Amino acid sequence: MMIFGKRPSMKRSKEEIILLLLCGLSIPSILPFGVIRLIQGNWWLGAVDLAIVTGMLCVIVYVLRTRRVRIAGIVVTIFYSIGMLTALSLRGPTIVYWAYPTMIAAFFILRAKEALAINSLSLLCMVWLLYKVMPLFDLACVIVTLTLINLFSTIFSHRTNLQHRELNQQASLDFLTGAGNRRAFDKRLTQLCANDVNQFGACLLLLDLDHFKKINDEFGHSVGDDVLIRVADLVRSRIRATDGLYRYGGEEFVVVTIGNQLDASAKFAEELRSLIANTPIFKGCLVTTSIGVAELRDKDTPNCWFQRADAALYEAKNSGRNCVKLAANQSH
Ligand code: GH3
Ligand code: MG
Ligand code: MG
Repeated sequence: MMIFGKRPSMKRSKEEIILLLLCGLSIPSILPFGVIRLIQGNWWLGAVDLAIVTGMLCVIVYVLRTRRVRIAGIVVTIFYSIGMLTALSLRGPTIVYWAYPTMIAAFFILRAKEALAINSLSLLCMVWLLYKVMPLFDLACVIVTLTLINLFSTIFSHRTNLQHRELNQQASLDFLTGAGNRRAFDKRLTQLCANDVNQFGACLLLLDLDHFKKINDEFGHSVGDDVLIRVADLVRSRIRATDGLYRYGGEEFVVVTIGNQLDASAKFAEELRSLIANTPIFKGCLVTTSIGVAELRDKDTPNCWFQRADAALYEAKNSGRNCVKLAANQSH
């Protein structure tokens, strides 16, 4: 019944792609300047440009092979900054414009705090290199504009992180009931099967409301929706912070319990069943639920684990509904 998505482990992360793009783009941007400088006999500056290009090529190969972006990112930023400072010491104020893209790039590659630390150090070195060769007013303009660039980039970075977190949260919630959605459930199961949580006990409680179609037909779809919301609230009020509630689809919910062996989870499932059956959710409408329970076993795949809970649920439906059944080979 359940098909879990393939793990996206082979896909390159956003961080990897940004770093590879930045390094890749820096090569055609810097290489022509290096070549022109060498042709003009400007050996030192040409050598600095070619050293940056070679460094970027090395980083690209390193990231493609190892996928380690953290260390590579710090190395790239320091390398860029040293290149910019070297060029500045060789050519003086005419090179100062390169400080702007260099500092902005740091925010794309690193966390805001790290970028800010490296850029502040660069700025101090720049002041030390330029204060004798640049009019004081011009130097003050450079300091103020670079400080503003860093300030705006930090704010932008924080805002983007916040939006990213909010979007991630929204993308994992079911809009009607506020329970985790199918995507979040899929992820949780994959995590649990990959980690060795079995020693603490992890169980799936698959809940399916009984004859829900009748409720819709008799009272209308919006009452059906309210019933789903109330059931989710009831279950949520009973689960622990480490457990999880997910809406698997239509009128099916899953509770993932952590730290409970099968017996305790079966007892808990019975409590939930009884709570739902005995709570007056909507006037004149009896809401009951059937529950299938399965414990995570060693070497279980998400599919395998879920299918055992699904088979137990099927048994509960066939046994007259409004009851709890445990997965095969596990006595109740
Ligand atoms: P059973 O006891 O065998 O589970 O019977 P059932 O009627 O609950 O199961 P069935 O699968 O036949 O019907 C499920 C119904 O759930 C059909 C569908 O209209 C309804 N449903 C699915 N999603 C929603 C929803 O978001 N809101 C409402 N109100 N109804 C929904
Ligand atoms: Mg169903
Ligand atoms: Mg149903």
